[in-house]
Amino acid sequence: MKNYLVRVIGEKAGVLGLACVTTGLVDRACRIHGTSPAASAALGRALTGGALMGNLMKSGQQIGLKFEGNGPLGKIIVEADYSGALRGFVGNPGADAPSLDGKLNVSGVLGKEGFLTVFKDTGLEEPYQGVVKLRTGEIAEDLAAYFVESEQVPSAVGLGVFVEPDGAVSSAGGFLVQTLPPQDGDVVDQLIRRIEKLPPVTAFLRAGGTPESLLEEIFDGIPVRTLETKTLFWRCTCSRERIERVLLSLGKKEMARLIREQGDVAVTCEFCGTSYAFSREALTALHREMGDPIP
Ligand SMILES: [Zn+2]
Repeated sequence: MKNYLVRVIGEKAGVLGLACVTTGLVDRACRIHGTSPAASAALGRALTGGALMGNLMKSGQQIGLKFEGNGPLGKIIVEADYSGALRGFVGNPGADAPSLDGKLNVSGVLGKEGFLTVFKDTGLEEPYQGVVKLRTGEIAEDLAAYFVESEQVPSAVGLGVFVEPDGAVSSAGGFLVQTLPPQDGDVVDQLIRRIEKLPPVTAFLRAGGTPESLLEEIFDGIPVRTLETKTLFWRCTCSRERIERVLLSLGKKEMARLIREQGDVAVTCEFCGTSYAFSREALTALHREMGDPIP
């Protein structure tokens, strides 16, 4: 199934809308990490939120989301960029929590207390970092709170992941609606009413809905035009060279200890699970590459 995002704007009404379907890439991410149903929902919602926020960046820019809660999941890390590339992982993929009213209990695994940190790498100066307290631990509300508190942009976020009894993700997607200044009170009221009446995102998608029809439903009667339609995809940027750079950053002393105590090492990428093996000879060669420590 195609993963994609649609962005629309209504200049006159001062509204921006994004909607996406992420079923295939969320399913892939959950298979890579072997997540429990509740952890799948948490990771899937965070990846989908990352897809929406990545689209608000500019070409070549990157965004990172870190959710740290007091639940058994530990943390959720997601990286996204304007090209539509996404990757992510959770601290404890096996963490689970009993369903609540028939719904996967995302706040039960992430926890209701903690922090959301948003990192933006715009390629300039210091990367931007914004931190807000978790609002509900359900991801969508936490992202909306970030936009309101950290960026002062009134925003509504809806995210959904449907996990089948066998663990497969059969539906995932979301939307982000923002109002732009100067705000029109009537339009804002209309949007709030529409969004409150929307069925859950996964119910909408499972009934044959698409990002396009979701945006039509939200902006019914408000003139908007499509700015772009973009493919979303899973991509990990790890490589042997990157892992080598991490090993080199350990320093000569630490590397010598590693060779002495372990000999061969395998370094596993947290994002995609790829394992990079380094033999004693390879480590020794890296050790030789390192300059002597500055006295
Ligand atoms: Zn990787």
